[in-house]
This record gives sequence, structure tokens and C-alpha cells, in this order.
Amino acid sequence: MKIPRQPMPEQPPEERANNFLEVPYGYDPLTAQLEAERCLQCKKKPCVMGCPVEVQIPEFIKLVCEGEFIEAGRKIKETNFLPAVCGRVCPQEDQCELVCVRAKKGESVAIGRLERFVADYEREHGEIVKPELAPSTGKKVAVVGSGPSGLTVSGDLAKLGHDVTIFEALHKPGGVLVYGIPEFRLPKSIVEAEVDYLKKLGVKLELNSIIGRIETIDDLFENGFDAVYVASGAGAPVFLGLPGENLGGIFSANEYLTRSNLMKGYLYPRYDTPMPMGRKVIVLGGGNVAMDSARTARRLNPEKVTILYRRTEKELPARIEEIHHAKEEGIEFHYLTSPVEFIGNEKKMVRAIRCIKMRLGEPDDSGRRRPIPIPDSEFEVEADTVIVAIGNYPNPLISDTTPDLPVNKWGNILADESGRTAKKGVFAGGDIVTGAATVIQAMGAGRIAAKSIHEYLMSDESNK
Ligand code: FAD
Ligand code: SF4
Repeated sequence: MKIPRQPMPEQPPEERANNFLEVPYGYDPLTAQLEAERCLQCKKKPCVMGCPVEVQIPEFIKLVCEGEFIEAGRKIKETNFLPAVCGRVCPQEDQCELVCVRAKKGESVAIGRLERFVADYEREHGEIVKPELAPSTGKKVAVVGSGPSGLTVSGDLAKLGHDVTIFEALHKPGGVLVYGIPEFRLPKSIVEAEVDYLKKLGVKLELNSIIGRIETIDDLFENGFDAVYVASGAGAPVFLGLPGENLGGIFSANEYLTRSNLMKGYLYPRYDTPMPMGRKVIVLGGGNVAMDSARTARRLNPEKVTILYRRTEKELPARIEEIHHAKEEGIEFHYLTSPVEFIGNEKKMVRAIRCIKMRLGEPDDSGRRRPIPIPDSEFEVEADTVIVAIGNYPNPLISDTTPDLPVNKWGNILADESGRTAKKGVFAGGDIVTGAATVIQAMGAGRIAAKSIHEYLMSDESNK
């Protein structure tokens, strides 16, 4: 009980604010073993119940204690195909670590850091072994989208002996893991390695393939697929609808981050895509997307990066670690502030934001206290680049081209708890169903849907 939670070494803030290299370095084997010793090996395993894909946490931690790092990696991969990703970006503090017994009288076991260590060790030592696959069922499944949900369902179905093809609109697989989350938080080589593992299981990838354009969902069935899993995410940006929002220099976080991550804009001119190099950058929003945008902007050498958020620090939805890193890197936070208008110069480029001060009222539907504008409190802040990071909604292409696939008023596909939709043979999960959520929730939905797709394919229902 005396061993404290082991910190993870990381790049010093003043150094990393000038590069895109990964911030934390990860544990070395001795530190990982020391941290693993803190686990009490609880019989009831509350941490496993806190994990949407039910990683066998005490079991893998025990293997780390014993120095069996490769075996620990295999244990995790029984239920999680993306451990190096999850070890880096999962909000463990709200999941497995939140319910860890050690947290009751101190600090939880650093489950995420251990998961990351094990996955990195396995990859770096080239000991990735293909698990046993069930004999072929002869059934074909199409998966729309290669984000965490599509990748998870594909891995599970391939293991069960199905022939899986992923159709991905972009030229690289990974969804938000490649186009949204920056290199300094999740190196793209790690996503590639985890996707390669799925390819080893026989999963096929059709890139640059937009379902709804090249083929519809109905075409997929006509072309011989027996089931379809839609995991197309929530990639369309929400705007504020304020006067002046069309001025030059105002970007959605999606565009800004896609330019930087997927198109490698941060390496311009080595890569073709230029990045907006503002001097006074303002980011609107308080979630992970806002933090990623602000921290990306910070690395492009501006005078100042400021986050404007309409509630207080307590309500910030981003992961604690991201907020902490953003502050260390010198990003300023202005709370209880909301934009009301964007002001342009004679060249129709943004030069300032007119804002209003807010106060907090009673809790709203989200359970957080509602921000209320304070009359006559308007003021201006200078900005030559504005990044709008206030949310996302689903791209309507699939629903527009599949009229018998029910969606709600926000365009999210309606699916039951097992991922089934009202359309025969069509399943859905991840952000396209829940709205913008987390990597592990999207993976959990993929895991559940794989079971239900397997049941469907193995029953008489799929032949009718
Ligand atoms: P996505 O990851 O969105 O993948 C959907 C894929 O479908 C995309 O590749 C898209 O190109 C493809 N697609 C869409 N339409 C079509 C079509 N018609 N045909 C073919 N392909 C199509 N979560 C965390 O847990 N931790 C974090 O730190 C975190 N940070 C985030 C940072 C950013 C910037 C963003 C945007 C999100 C972040 N999230 C984070 C949320 C998390 O990434 C998402 O909840 C998760 O990726 C959803 O997975 P998904 O598989 O449902 O969809
Ligand atoms: Fe170990 Fe915490 Fe899980 Fe108990 S709850 S088994 S201490 S990780």
C-alpha cells in the first residue's frame, strides 16, 4: 500500500510547445512493474466493470508484475484490438480508474499507463502474434467507416470466421484517431500498427470509398454482403450561426485538425497543405477537440492562444490531462465568456470577436449549470484566427441514400442496445448512433454489435 502512483515522464512544456512529438514518454519496465504491484487483485474486479470492452485488468496487471509483458499484451488483446490507442486517449479517470478500489483511500492504479506500456512493449519487441481464427463461415460483412467502432467490429467478426471488408471515405484508416487527434497525443504510426494487426486477421480495407456515393447500403447487399455495420461517426462540424461567421480566418475544428493531422499541414511546405498561422488564435469550446485545436495552434508559434468557454473550469468537458497539458503549454483560458459576433477588417478577414460575460444558473439537461448572459457586459477580444470547436453531428449522406434506415432529429441512426437497426441486416454503432462520445464507447458498441451480427448471420433470419 506504500507504493505511490508512478508518474509518467514527459517532454518539458517549454520544449514540447515547439514540436509535434508525443508528450508523455511512457513507463520503462521497472516503473511498470512497480505500478503493477499496487493492484490489489480484487475478486469482484470493479475496474473491469468500468471498462466498456471488459479488458481483463487484474489479469493483465498480474502478468506485468511477473514481467510477462508479451503475455500481458495478449491478455488485453483478447478483448481490445487497440490497446496502444486506448492507453493513450481513453478517459480512464471516468471509467476503470474511477472505480478502482485503490482510489477509495488514495490514488487509483494507473491502468491506462500500464495498458500503454504493455501495448508498446509488444509492438517494439515485434512479438505480435495472430490469434486463432474460427473456420470460415462463408458470410460477408461490409463495415462503413474505419474509426474505433468499425475497427473493433471488424476484428471481432474476423475472429469468428466472417469475411469482413471495411469501406473508408478517407485515404487513411482510423477515423478520428488519424484525422482528429494530433500526433503529439497519438502518433499515427501507432494507429497504423494497430490497423495492420486487423489486416493480419484478414480484414480487407477499401480506402477512398464513400458509401452513399460509390455504392449505397442497398448496393452492398446486392453485391453479395450478408450484413452491414454502419460506423460512420459524427464528423460534420456544428457552427454557432453568429453574424460574421463566414469571415476569412474562421475555421471549424474539423477542418483545422484535418489539415494538420491527416494532410500533415504542420509539416508545410514539406507537405502541400498550408496551415493557418495566426498570431492571435482564439478557440471556442471546452472539450477534447478544443484542447487539441489550441495545443496544435500553440505549436505553430503564435503570439497567444486563448480558449473561450461559456461555463467555468469545473464544467470543462475535456480530459483532465488535456487541460493540464494545455495550461502548462501556456494556453490562456477565459471562462464565463460567449461570442456574439465576429468582426472583420476591410479584407473580410476576422480581426476580433465581440463577446458577452456569462453567469451560471440552474443545471440544464446535461446536468451542468446553464450559462446565462449578463446584460450590458459585451466586450471585444482581438483575433486573426478563430477555431470553432463546439460539437459535431453525423454526415447525412448514409441516411439520405438509405431512406428506410430510421434516424432521430439530429441525424443519428436509431439502433437498439445490440446495434440492430429497423432495416434488415443493417447494424450501427459508435458516434453515428450516440453522437460524439469516446473512443472506448465506440469500441464497446462495435464489440456488442459483432456478437449480434454473428447471431444474425448464423441464424435462419439472414437467409430469408
Ligand atoms: P469515427 O472515429 O468518427 O470514424 C468514422 C469513420 O467513418 C471516419 O474515418 C469517416 O471518414 C468514415 N466515414 C464517414 N462517412 C462515411 C461514408 N459515407 N463512407 C465510408 N466511410 C465513411 N475520445 C476519447 O476517448 N479520448 C480522446 O482523447 C478524444 N479526443 C478527441 C479529439 C478530437 C479532435 C475528436 C474529434 C474526437 C475525440 N474523441 C476522443 C472522440 C472519439 O474520437 C470518437 O468518439 C470516436 O472516434 C468515434 O468513433 P467512431 O468509430 O464511431 O467514428
Ligand atoms: Fe487492481 Fe484497482 Fe482493478 Fe482492484 S479495482 S483489481 S486494485 S485495478
